[in-house]
Amino acid sequence: MLNVDLHCHSTVSDGTLSPAALAARAHANGVDLWALTDHDELDGIAEAREASSDLGLRFVAGVEISITWAGKTVHIVGVGIDENHPDLREGLASVRGGREARGRDIAAQLAAVGIPGAFDGAMKFAENPELLGRTHFARFLVEAGVRKTVSEVFQSYLIEGKPGFVPHRWATLEQSVRWIRSAGGRAVIAHPGRYSFDDMQLGALIDQFSSLGGEGIEVITGSHSPHQYDEYASLALKKGLLASRGSDFHGPAESRADLGDLPHLPAGLTPVWHDWAL
Ligand code: AMP
Ligand code: MN
Ligand code: MN
Ligand code: MN
Repeated sequence: MLNVDLHCHSTVSDGTLSPAALAARAHANGVDLWALTDHDELDGIAEAREASSDLGLRFVAGVEISITWAGKTVHIVGVGIDENHPDLREGLASVRGGREARGRDIAAQLAAVGIPGAFDGAMKFAENPELLGRTHFARFLVEAGVRKTVSEVFQSYLIEGKPGFVPHRWATLEQSVRWIRSAGGRAVIAHPGRYSFDDMQLGALIDQFSSLGGEGIEVITGSHSPHQYDEYASLALKKGLLASRGSDFHGPAESRADLGDLPHLPAGLTPVWHDWAL
C-alpha cells in the first residue's frame, strides 16, 4: 500500500521546515506521495516540487484554506491544484489580507494580560510576514516562558474564550471550493474531529460542501485520535466522500505525527488519490 501524506506545513506558513527540507524528510520517512498544504499560501510549491523531483518522490501541489462557516473557523484542503491559477491566487491573497491587523489585535489582548511585545515577538517566528498566525504567537509565548510548549499555550491562550483570541472572517465555504475546483484540484474537509460541531452541524457542513462540488474528508490525520479514525471512516462512507490521509506535520518539535507516520486508510474507503496517475 502506498504511503500517502496529503497535509503538511512549511516555513511559508506556520511550519518550521523549508519546503525542500520537508521533501527530504518525507523521502527519508518512506513517503511515496505527498502534498505541501500551507495555510492560504502557494509560495512553497515550486521549491517542494523541485526538491521532490530531485529525490524521485511523487508530489502534488496543495493548500489549506481558512474559511468561516456557521461562525467558526474551518479548514478546507485543496490537493492536485494548479498553483498558478489566477482565481486561486487572487482568492488566497484576499484571505491573507487580514492577518496583520488581526495579529495587532491579538498582541493588544496579550499586552492587556501582562505580556508585552507579542506582535514583534511573533513576527520574528513568521518567515512569511503575510502569514502571521496563532502558531507564531504560540512560539513567542513559549520563548517568553509563559508556557513550556506550543500545545500548552493553546490550552490557555489564543483560543475562544481565552486571551489572544480575535474572531476573524476568513473565506466562505463556497469560495474555497470554487477556487480549488477552478485550479483543477480536489477539495477536502480538513481534520473534521477538531471542530466543535455536533453531528447535525457537521452533517450540514458536509452536505453544503458536497453540493458545491467538494469531494473528500480527512479520516486519518495527526489531529485525530484512533477512535476518531473509525468515526470519520464511517462518516465518509455514509456521506459518499473520498477519504484522505495527512499528518498535518508542522515541525519535529511540535507535531504529533511525523510525515507519513500514520495508520493506512481503513479498508473500504475510496482514497482521494484513487484515480490519480501514480
Ligand atoms: P491561524 O490560522 O492563525 O488561526 O492559526 C491556526 C493554526 O494554529 C493551526 O493551523 C495550528 O497550526 C495551530 N493550532 C490551533 N490550535 C492548536 C492546538 N490546540 N495545538 C497546537 N496548534 C494549534
Ligand atoms: Mn497550522
Ligand atoms: Mn488545519
Ligand atoms: Mn494544517
